[in-house]
Amino acid sequence: MERTIIKNWSSENVIAGYTTESGGLFRYMNPQDEKNYEALARDFGLRADRLVRVHEDHTDNIFVAEEGSGGEGIMKNEQTGDYDGITTDAEDIMLCIVTADCVPVFLHDPVKNAIALAHSGRVGTGKEIALKAVLKMTEEFGSDPKNIRCMLGPYLCKTHHVVHHPDIILFSEHFSPDERDSFLTVTGDQIRVDMGRAIAISLTRSGVPAENISDCGICTYEHKELYSWRRDHDPDAHILSFILMKHT
Ligand SMILES: [Zn+2]
Repeated sequence: MERTIIKNWSSENVIAGYTTESGGLFRYMNPQDEKNYEALARDFGLRADRLVRVHEDHTDNIFVAEEGSGGEGIMKNEQTGDYDGITTDAEDIMLCIVTADCVPVFLHDPVKNAIALAHSGRVGTGKEIALKAVLKMTEEFGSDPKNIRCMLGPYLCKTHHVVHHPDIILFSEHFSPDERDSFLTVTGDQIRVDMGRAIAISLTRSGVPAENISDCGICTYEHKELYSWRRDHDPDAHILSFILMKHT
């Protein structure tokens, strides 16, 4: 199983999924990995120059991908240095981000035909990158948040996501004490973080209805075919998540 497609989410012309360990490595601008990008693209009738990925540095910046953006982050990096999310209304452009315990946030607006994908780690979640992605879809494509559907891909679940006290500060700017209490469980000097809950708070704040938010329910730490930083400590090893609107 080299990649998993998330089934029964949003529309038939939208393909969302993620790679597993056997799919190989997907490093930024690494010629050794081009064959992996090509194999992934080929599965969906595309070439690697239709894939777009961003560098990812725990920012809350969203890159708007256009037809000419194909190949960004794979074989060229003219535009995609300082972003952690991507959105587009172009068909047959595959948006990609990598994670290894952080949350891949998939978004689809079936009314305006736009998609987005964001890398939401603790830092990005604290900055509300999911909300920023919804705002960008609103600005660029006229999306109404009420129509946007969201899926959270595989990430480190709250049982395994244990951090230490100073991390609370990441969530202090954008989340109220009551909100923080709903996704942070403090035990002594340890905190368990429910990333899915925090992201759902941001998305509902942006206007996405709670019933439009789904979670694939897969923990990276528990599923051995997925890379997990917490389990493997391998800086090169990432899950590549992807979303694509097929031309119909
Ligand atoms: Zn877990």
